[in-house]
Amino acid sequence: MPLDEYKRKRDFTKTPEPAGTVKARKGRERFFCVQKHLASHLHYDLRLEHNGVLLSWAVPKGPSLDPKTKRLAMKVEDHPVAYGEFEGVIPEGYGAGIVMLWDKGTWTPEVDDVDAALKKGDLKFTLNGYKLKGSWVLVRTGGRYAGARGGGDRSWLLIKHRDDWAGDVDIVEFAPLSVKSNGDFEDILAEDTPAVWQSNRPAKGGDAGAMLATIIERAAALKSARTKDTPSGRTENTTVTKSTKKAVGRVTASKAVKRGTQSPRRPQRKK
Ligand code: MN
Repeated sequence: MPLDEYKRKRDFTKTPEPAGTVKARKGRERFFCVQKHLASHLHYDLRLEHNGVLLSWAVPKGPSLDPKTKRLAMKVEDHPVAYGEFEGVIPEGYGAGIVMLWDKGTWTPEVDDVDAALKKGDLKFTLNGYKLKGSWVLVRTGGRYAGARGGGDRSWLLIKHRDDWAGDVDIVEFAPLSVKSNGDFEDILAEDTPAVWQSNRPAKGGDAGAMLATIIERAAALKSARTKDTPSGRTENTTVTKSTKKAVGRVTASKAVKRGTQSPRRPQRKK
């Protein structure tokens, strides 16, 4: 830890010196995003900005707003901050497929020392995104689930804390589209010039390539259908029922959340 020695040498009840920038960072908002990634398998990449990089976890089933539903989150390599706004196509290599910016906003650590929390395997934080809000925790499962699937200490669980932003709604089903383009995977592919991210890592197998070929076919079909139809493209057809609204509460009942038009920097008022 960068400030360990600084802190060890000081008693902050007796010195007027600041306890250091690590503590001062508590409460500071940092960028976060969730990128829905259709590669060999669909998953959701949760990324939290920290010390100039995006800490990253791959969440196969995506986040759940239900505190009882713990979602496996595999720790993966840090990503560059510039990757956080990316939406588009990774044509080949590691992660080949389509990336959708599914949610973004800011995150705030609920601890003084993020590095210590990561080392301990228990990071509590608050999200303020379009779709994900409120208090969450990432907990490393350590040896408990290691072994069977070779997860080792890369296995974490992503869990929603019980608060105003928790609920029964399946957020990945309820709000499946991009907060950047409002499109689905096919729409991202069907753009005239989709953004392309060049991976510098080799592919692990043919799965991703075959999947990509299928998706490209679907995108082509969608695009030709759209040319004959209206230029405005797809429309939302999800109906928000009363029971859904009750389950969703204030979190996601509004169309604005689904459509990504509600600013993540303007949090809804809590009671
Ligand atoms: Mn990924």
